[in-house]
Amino acid sequence: ILDSGQNKNISLDDIFISVKTTKHYQYTRLPIILKTWYQLAKQQTWFFTDTENRQHQNQTNGHMVNTNCSASHQRKHLCCKMSVEYDRFLESGKKWFCHFDDDNYVNVPRLVSVLQKYNHQEDWYLGRTSIYEPVKIYKKATNQLMFSFWFATGGAGFCISRSLALKMLPVASGGRFISICEGIRLPDDVSVGFIIEHMLKKNLTLVPEFHSHLEQMKLLAPETFRDQISFSYAKAKDEWNVVNVPGFDTRYDPTRFLSLHCFLFPHFKFCPR
Ligand code: UDP
Ligand code: MN
Repeated sequence: ILDSGQNKNISLDDIFISVKTTKHYQYTRLPIILKTWYQLAKQQTWFFTDTENRQHQNQTNGHMVNTNCSASHQRKHLCCKMSVEYDRFLESGKKWFCHFDDDNYVNVPRLVSVLQKYNHQEDWYLGRTSIYEPVKIYKKATNQLMFSFWFATGGAGFCISRSLALKMLPVASGGRFISICEGIRLPDDVSVGFIIEHMLKKNLTLVPEFHSHLEQMKLLAPETFRDQISFSYAKAKDEWNVVNVPGFDTRYDPTRFLSLHCFLFPHFKFCPR
């Protein structure tokens, strides 16, 4: 019998870490991940892409999944990837499904320690919202509010317990997730929220340690980096929204992820000493 919901027996190997990526980012975003946090979760991380790349397949010991989804930013194709991620998680038999984007840095030990606070045999949807009110769905003819729901921002990462993922099975497995997305005409992460909060009536649990580039990364204080689960970066016009961390030259490390990795794990070979 588990004491107070503390699940110390959860380890990295119980987590299925999925990363959504695409052909267009295979030589920019992917190499940064492969050099940094992926090295701490090689057996547990899977990349969901839309192209074949023998070099990356070798580098990841076959962990690149070609989803055969189109390489485009359209809703249908992004939902196609999420659908494959979810199906692969179900097949894996693991206790937690954690999704990230390829512009996320995942602080692997922290992800494990946070999940230890929750019981995978209960229904958990953990993540961070990026909007200040829930998504509202109105009746077309009368403009009447039908229902509203929250969702976890995909670009910050989110985790779903196996118990909850199994409850999603009838509506989301085997590609049915794509039909849900198309039905409500909302992006993949919003559709996950729709299924969990609206259809299954389970609430999102806010875990503020997940971060997307919808936040200002420079506002995160270095003293707290170790406590954060994920980080991100983005470039808008000429301005980078990046973590403020000491380390490599910005020309060499514009995303700051190499510096962040060395801040957290200074013993890595490529880190200065
Ligand atoms: N992505 C994709 N196909 C595309 C464009 C983007 O799978 O055609 C993935 C990308 O690899 C990333 C996520 O979708 O994991 C979000 O993409 P991006 O950061 O470019 O856009 P954002 O939605 O954050 O502005
Ligand atoms: Mn992004």
